[in-house]
Amino acid sequence: MERKPLIAGNWKMHLSIEEAVQLASSLADCCRGGLDDREVMVAPPYTSVAAVVKALKGSPIQVAGQNVCWEKEGAFTGEISPVMLKEAGTTMVILGHSERRHIFGEGDELINRRLQGALAFDLTPILCVGETLDEREQGATFDVLERQVTKGLQNVAAIDAAEVVIAYEPVWAIGTGKTASNDQAQEAHKFIRGVLAALYEKTLADKIRILYGGSVKPDNIDSLMAEPDIDGALVGGAALKFESFDRIIHYKI
Ligand code: PEP
Repeated sequence: MERKPLIAGNWKMHLSIEEAVQLASSLADCCRGGLDDREVMVAPPYTSVAAVVKALKGSPIQVAGQNVCWEKEGAFTGEISPVMLKEAGTTMVILGHSERRHIFGEGDELINRRLQGALAFDLTPILCVGETLDEREQGATFDVLERQVTKGLQNVAAIDAAEVVIAYEPVWAIGTGKTASNDQAQEAHKFIRGVLAALYEKTLADKIRILYGGSVKPDNIDSLMAEPDIDGALVGGAALKFESFDRIIHYKI
């Protein structure tokens, strides 16, 4: 089953507008005319989105929001609407990132509302799921993944689910330098694909991209991408430097 790999950079709350434009321009130069077999995306802070979209014009690199509200406008202080993200030129949005779940208390129901809002306005949602270290040590990894995937996709029809990207990001591996082993990542991805097959059907599950995130670096991307159920990467720290993200984009298997 053909799944086009996606390499996604999450810039989190980093980079000034000027720095973001500089990084985007370098990435645009390196990717112009040569990314047929993979997709690349970056998710800048909201203040830089429009400038980064402009800097990437003419390149195949897409831009994403780091979160989104489900309403198109209204009294939602601190939120960003899917219409606004689209107007600024994004095509994707990261949802349920572990920092949203664990620092800002976002739960599965809220994340599901956001996901439905993204789909309603034609933004590709990247639904992040992943267990904490405690949950892994208690043997609860699969329960957590099943719950987060099932609740995140609640009331999402098959036709829409086909557009969703899942990112498996074990919380203990994010920003810690501890990458999941290839076997741990592959096992979790295969399990998630099984959950998707149970929720929808196998043919659909086989089409949905599942990214790995958690201390992805130039020296581990090639072997991660060689795993059969790893369809790309969501990269934090290593996406902030041109040299490292460029190498990750150009992974080799
Ligand atoms: C992330 O922010 O989604 C992430 C995986 O970060 P890092 O690559 O720095 O672990």
